[in-house]
Amino acid sequence: MKATPEDQLRLLDLQKVDAEIDLLNHRAKNLPEHSQITELEAVKQSSDSELGLVSIDEADVKREVAKADADAEQVRTRKTRDEVRLASGQGSAKDLEHLQHELVSLSRRVNDLEEIELEIMMRLDEFTSKANEYRAIIADTDAKLEVLTASRDKQLSELAANVKNLKEERAMIAGKIAAELLALYEKLRASNEGVGAAAIVRKRCSGCHLDLTAIDAEKFKQAPVDDVLRCEECRRILIRTVDSGLI
Ligand SMILES: [Zn+2]
Repeated sequence: MKATPEDQLRLLDLQKVDAEIDLLNHRAKNLPEHSQITELEAVKQSSDSELGLVSIDEADVKREVAKADADAEQVRTRKTRDEVRLASGQGSAKDLEHLQHELVSLSRRVNDLEEIELEIMMRLDEFTSKANEYRAIIADTDAKLEVLTASRDKQLSELAANVKNLKEERAMIAGKIAAELLALYEKLRASNEGVGAAAIVRKRCSGCHLDLTAIDAEKFKQAPVDDVLRCEECRRILIRTVDSGLI
């Protein structure tokens, strides 16, 4: 392939801009915030589902508390009514004795129910404090996520702005290069880790960093300036400059 020496040199400018764009894209993709956000989102998700489960238990126990409370209240009301009747002294001696017995048994029943209620309240406390722990984790995670997301977005928008400028610069350089040479460069760049053109620096390919063989060096030295040279090792386009060591 033939190309003017100016176009060949432009490839090096293009390569430089492309490398900068690649670097910025790589940086955008590998911001530490990405993995930190993913980790925190996992923490939040598992805490959310744990909280959901504990909340179900909490609601169940709250219903148990309400029921135990209602049961105890019912017995207390009955007890109060009996006490009033007993105090009034009305009724036969047998009735009054019966009332006294009933009052003893009602007192015992109230005590039992209050104990049950207390035991349920303790269980409720456990669930409530567990739920609060998860709520605290979620709130803390949300706060961290907010900071990290803001930091990520700020960096991404700065990087995107820089990439945009570089792409404009790239378009200007690429617009001046002959289509055939540009197409070869793009093809090589795609299959060679983003490097399609490399300068020969002191008889070495700066793409694969291997020295030219003496034969190749001599061949390149003799080649007309508009010959498009290729590295025998990595096949990248080789550009001659004043630093090539071929003169
Ligand atoms: Zn090479």
